[in-house]
Amino acid sequence: MILSGKQIITGAFALTSLLSVSCTQNGTTASSEKDSLGNQSADSVKSVTTVASAQNLNYTPNELGKVMVLEYHLIGYPEDRWRRTPENFRKDLQMLYDNDFYPVSVLDIAYGNLNVPAGKTPFAITLDDSSAGQFRYIEKNGQLVIDPECALGIMEDFKKKYKDFPVTATFYVLPAIKPTLRLFAQPEYKKQKLEWLEKNGYEIGSHNWYHSMLSKLSDAGVQEHLSMFVKEIREFLPNYEVKTMALPLGMHAKNRALEVSGEFEGTKYNHQAVMLVGSVSSVSPYSKDFNRLAIQRVQAGEHTENPETFMKSQIKHQTRFVSDGDPKTISAPEKLRDQLKPGLEKKYQVKWIKEKENTVAQN
Ligand SMILES: [Zn+2]
Repeated sequence: MILSGKQIITGAFALTSLLSVSCTQNGTTASSEKDSLGNQSADSVKSVTTVASAQNLNYTPNELGKVMVLEYHLIGYPEDRWRRTPENFRKDLQMLYDNDFYPVSVLDIAYGNLNVPAGKTPFAITLDDSSAGQFRYIEKNGQLVIDPECALGIMEDFKKKYKDFPVTATFYVLPAIKPTLRLFAQPEYKKQKLEWLEKNGYEIGSHNWYHSMLSKLSDAGVQEHLSMFVKEIREFLPNYEVKTMALPLGMHAKNRALEVSGEFEGTKYNHQAVMLVGSVSSVSPYSKDFNRLAIQRVQAGEHTENPETFMKSQIKHQTRFVSDGDPKTISAPEKLRDQLKPGLEKKYQVKWIKEKENTVAQN
């Protein structure tokens, strides 16, 4: 049962729109054995409340809108299809900051754990192939410091400058490939770098043992390569849980279940999210079409399908994810009602926003 409510709002605000919100609510949280995107049916709405929302801010929440998981490769010179310069990487962060994006981890997106300020759009950063341009140590005045021109140095600087923008990222690394891409290409600092990333809230994800295409491996081979990744990382971080994986070249295993979990010679892996190779924005984690085991990414760069292009299109067509500021609710335009992933009403309060013809407050 769902009630629709209407409330006429008066006040001094210059309203950009007058919204009435019908709200379904289940006062319970999801059962603990289900993940946050559990597949339970939506049949037990226990209580219903009706609210009206006086929006004096210039945004309307849309938590069924699109999110971007950005994909970077080399950071250095010159700019090209698979390389971003430090200046352009910095420029990307500034563009995101200036346009109301808010950094989260890929796991936050995978599980819909989005604690994002009202009016902001979550996004995640991923960097593939562990080149030195992503994380480089240099010596400065006899001290070992993070190169301010590598991706990590740029992100750390940006985070210090903008305290309301807690930058994080997932590094999809390679432990056994050619030296220029092997765990950030400074062999003497491999352990130190991985420890630094873990300690400072960055994620180390699997990009496979040495970038082998899973499509070309047997079932046993897929398990060997993905398990060997875990084993190699644990040489440096003995208890590290590898939680997410980016498919090398976007190629799926013949048996896709083995992308998620498997075992080789006593080493197991269990991925909670799998990244595709970038080309488009991801649907909202609350969408019925979202699959945390096949998350779309957007390739950053100067080409036409870059983050800025997607952002402009999403603003124009109002398809951008815009947070309501409350991690316990999902707010979205009522016209997207059929997009909601079944079962989420059990974990979240769901607010459907109905746009009225009125554009100003009235009695
Ligand atoms: Zn790669």
